[in-house]
Amino acid sequence: MTAPSLYIHIPFCVRKCEYCDFYSGVAGEAEIDRYLDALEAEFRLRFPDGLAPRTVFIGGGTPTRLSAEQLNRLGKILRARVSLDGCIEFSCEINPGTLTPEKAAALKRMGVNRASFGVQSFQPKFLKGLGRIYEAGTATGAVEMARAAGIERVSMDLMFALPGQTLDDLKDDLTRALAHGTEHLSLYALTFEDDTPLTRQLLNGEVEPCEEELERAMFELVGETCAAHGLERYEVSNFARPGAECRHNLVYWTGGDWHGVGAGAHAMLGGEIGRNAADFKAYTRMLLDENSLPVADRELLAPQARAESLLLMGLRLKQGVELATFERFAGASFESLCGDAARRLASMGLLELTPTHVRATSEGLLLLDNLVVELAAAMEPATA
Ligand code: SF4
Repeated sequence: MTAPSLYIHIPFCVRKCEYCDFYSGVAGEAEIDRYLDALEAEFRLRFPDGLAPRTVFIGGGTPTRLSAEQLNRLGKILRARVSLDGCIEFSCEINPGTLTPEKAAALKRMGVNRASFGVQSFQPKFLKGLGRIYEAGTATGAVEMARAAGIERVSMDLMFALPGQTLDDLKDDLTRALAHGTEHLSLYALTFEDDTPLTRQLLNGEVEPCEEELERAMFELVGETCAAHGLERYEVSNFARPGAECRHNLVYWTGGDWHGVGAGAHAMLGGEIGRNAADFKAYTRMLLDENSLPVADRELLAPQARAESLLLMGLRLKQGVELATFERFAGASFESLCGDAARRLASMGLLELTPTHVRATSEGLLLLDNLVVELAAAMEPATA
């Protein structure tokens, strides 16, 4: 059995981006120091005997909002409880505008071997529209800083379907990202989340959403450009050189287990979801003043819900969903639960069935939500 992975959430940002609905906020140095005290307490309470995760991912927020000293302290907290002996990948999200050579060195000392840069765009007009804190060009310097510190593996996040973005704008962003020898790219279409400044601008008619046809053309352009540079689409929004796939995210997409530490972090262990308090003040109070774990709730997924969530995540992958894992989660074979529906979707050219996997075709990838709804509906009578 593979050791669970570890996710650590740092919920602080320099300021809030216009489109963001993640759990993150702005805090002063004293609050961040107290948060690190709380993280240390959570590691101590949760893992009295330590842990040896297969992968580690520090996300946010903006982990590099922490100062170099605070990152060094985080490294110390980890070293006290976490063995990296069997760890095959240790990623940290980096907002390019916040990295310094000292912070890059602190990450390297901590054990980070993969830098995941939230670039979003290389063009000033789009960076400004998204409310990102850095100037165009900063991303290039940040990648060089990480490499100079010895963090060789580089991933970049870019966004497309931005208001006013053309195919040429996107081509330009892709070319610049790939020019850095980037081994992994994540490309997400902008979504207008409820209650964000960008969505308010949309509702006020100040920005126009990208048209559906253009978004589809962009999705195809992304695939073609990455393929031409040797990066394969291994998940609907993720591209990698062979062997450079994000091993941590593969744990999420293949129904694996992980621990979650930090405010708002989720864990998944044996079909049980654990959610930490998504408020860093409540999180620190529970750990430091009440000496209790900061768990907001726990939910044991029913077999159908667990199998459905596996389909939802796994059909995003090029390799698809492993039927043996599906059967382990659902308590019955894929054939007995979804066989007829899957064959109907396969005859429409949307799904492919092999003796070991079920996967979406490239047409099917564009209709993923519908595929999952159809398969879940087929499961209903059998497992209700
Ligand atoms: S840096 Fe990331 S988490 Fe922070 S506000 Fe911007 S998008 Fe949200």
